Amino acid sequence: MLVINVLIRKRNFLFFLLLPRVRPSGSEYFPGQVRVNVWSERQGGPFFSGVWLYNRCIMKEFLKKLVRAESTAEKGELAAARIISEELRLSGITPAISDWGTNRANITAWISSTGRRRGLLFACHLDVVGAGDRAWKHPPFAGVQADGKIYGRGTADMKGGIAAIVTAIREIVDSGLKLQGDIVFFAGAGEETDSCGAKRFIRDQADKLPPLCGVIVGEPTDFEVVTAHRGLLWLEVTSKGTSAHSSTPELGVNAIGSMGAFLAELENYQLRYEPHELLGRCTMSVNTIQGGNAMNIVPERCSIGIDIRTLPRQNHQDVIDDMQEIFDKLKRKDSRFDAEVSIVRDVGALETDRKCDFVKDFCSAVGVQRTKAVGFTTDGPYFASLAPAVVVFGPGKPQLCHRTDEYIEISDVEKAVQHYKNLILKFLV
Ligand SMILES: [Zn+2]
Repeated sequence: MLVINVLIRKRNFLFFLLLPRVRPSGSEYFPGQVRVNVWSERQGGPFFSGVWLYNRCIMKEFLKKLVRAESTAEKGELAAARIISEELRLSGITPAISDWGTNRANITAWISSTGRRRGLLFACHLDVVGAGDRAWKHPPFAGVQADGKIYGRGTADMKGGIAAIVTAIREIVDSGLKLQGDIVFFAGAGEETDSCGAKRFIRDQADKLPPLCGVIVGEPTDFEVVTAHRGLLWLEVTSKGTSAHSSTPELGVNAIGSMGAFLAELENYQLRYEPHELLGRCTMSVNTIQGGNAMNIVPERCSIGIDIRTLPRQNHQDVIDDMQEIFDKLKRKDSRFDAEVSIVRDVGALETDRKCDFVKDFCSAVGVQRTKAVGFTTDGPYFASLAPAVVVFGPGKPQLCHRTDEYIEISDVEKAVQHYKNLILKFLV
């Protein structure tokens, strides 16, 4: 920590007056925290001692490093977890990294308190989706700063949120404030693919956690307080045929033809659900298809990927049963029809009581009047078993997620630090 001692005498009184004005640019040069002590010749000790909190230049560099970690599911999250670990250690926090497979990783940190109040869990994800095929204005994994923004894959979803949460935690810890409830920080793997990190965290840590008053998921909501989102059910349907030389197709069973029949049925299929007052309807979209190996072979397999976005209280098993019913119907029409359905991913919907005390206090701490529901999905529902309320709240525009030229406004990350600190003060002090 850098300590600036200002001794007030007549001749440097002017300097003292100017000090507040030099702070913002001056702070760019100091790593970590700066304490300003103001002394007077007449008194024996400092009559003012203010902690000039953790400087924001460091936060930007931290966010850029996180972007450069390129934590796609293929490359793994370990590098990003290590960067966060180093950052937290600067404030004397000792995080734990749990890694598995090829560089897959979770990181958790626990800041203990007197335990008089229930704790707060900050939940994040380390992984990002790939950069896609389109050209970027700035390289997607360089963390380029321009026009008050930081560009790169994951800046909005959700490394900007991680940078803000880690910085807020560091500022609170560095300030020496006595907490009455624990802070638990978690950033996990695979949120974009199979939620492997969140599932692992809950499996290994759930019974070790302190009682929690709530969970804050720092995904990009552009500072909206999100208490509900739809769930998702990803299904793979595979039709099976019999290969044959395509000059004699009658000797085989064409799996692509079978899939065509299934897709025609799916066009007329109605999902069973009651519309939700905030989340609207359940939707379904067929998004991938693979089939066939060569121009002269009757294909023996064809598979499609279906993304279904579900509502709270909707039973996912009903959808799977309906698929099975369509198969049975097609088999009755043509006994050679053969298909199966498997679950690729299954995440429930999120629905936190908007009127509960946690949500009310949350809204007042961040100055928001109304909560919101969104169409996208997070790992939030996994954490619902740990605390009475899960709220999604973070910096960054949701419409920039997974897009070319993704960015986050630096001022939004700074604003988020203030919000997360206010939330810690509201719930844990
Ligand atoms: Zn995300």
